[in-house]
Amino acid sequence: MESLAQITRLILDMDGVLYRGSEPIPRLREFFAFLRERRIPFMLATNNATRTPQERSEKLARMGAQVAPAEILTSAQGAARFLKRQYPAGTRVHVFGMAALREAVREEGFVLADEDVKIVVASVDRDVTFEKVKVASRLIRAGARFIATNLDPNIPAEDGFLPGTGAMVAMLATASGVAPTGIGKPEPILYELAMSQMGARPGTTAAVGDRVMTDIVGGKRAGLTTICVLTGASDRAEAEAAGADFIFADIGALLDAWRAALAAQTQA
Ligand SMILES: [Mg+2]
Repeated sequence: MESLAQITRLILDMDGVLYRGSEPIPRLREFFAFLRERRIPFMLATNNATRTPQERSEKLARMGAQVAPAEILTSAQGAARFLKRQYPAGTRVHVFGMAALREAVREEGFVLADEDVKIVVASVDRDVTFEKVKVASRLIRAGARFIATNLDPNIPAEDGFLPGTGAMVAMLATASGVAPTGIGKPEPILYELAMSQMGARPGTTAAVGDRVMTDIVGGKRAGLTTICVLTGASDRAEAEAAGADFIFADIGALLDAWRAALAAQTQA
């Protein structure tokens, strides 16, 4: 893609792109107003599995951005839908994670259990305990398939970084001696689900993210144009080294460049 004016569909990461913790990135409301006004379909695709799409939608509404739960895809849903392709409804799954992940797994027809399970799905658990680590790692050691919603080491927040799923599953992996299969970005599953929901083609779809190792690498694997913003996990040098197609200080700078590209196209 030569110019931002060619974008017809957009897939955006959330943490570090739209907000840091409870702090919105400047011009968030204006950015979404632009997408609506230009009628550019978008999906928010996040590796963060600690909240449901409904909760994410409410958080954005408090920040002035109107996004429907159906326009939000988390790695919890990605993991549940990935498993649904391979296991029949009723398969017993142990969840190491928060309510949002349990809900996503249950929604796809799986039965949540703490023993005799085929699969352990793990993500960030803010109420992690020794007992929970013990139960999950024993199930994995006993042969349950080990799935992680993502492998991000941390999550950008307003006051610094929080431990991410990668940090949590490292405990389980060390205790069980088994490495997890990651589902979120940089794996292409979330991007594929988002594109199919929008009827998008890779050639005219762009992915916006802040973390090079997941958003940009994953976007490239999915054949998308990649846009890195510098309000989260990665800096300019990392974005350049990864070959991001466009790099902006934040979504406000992306918006200005996009408008300029559209104006230039109109004049040409
Ligand atoms: Mg992010």
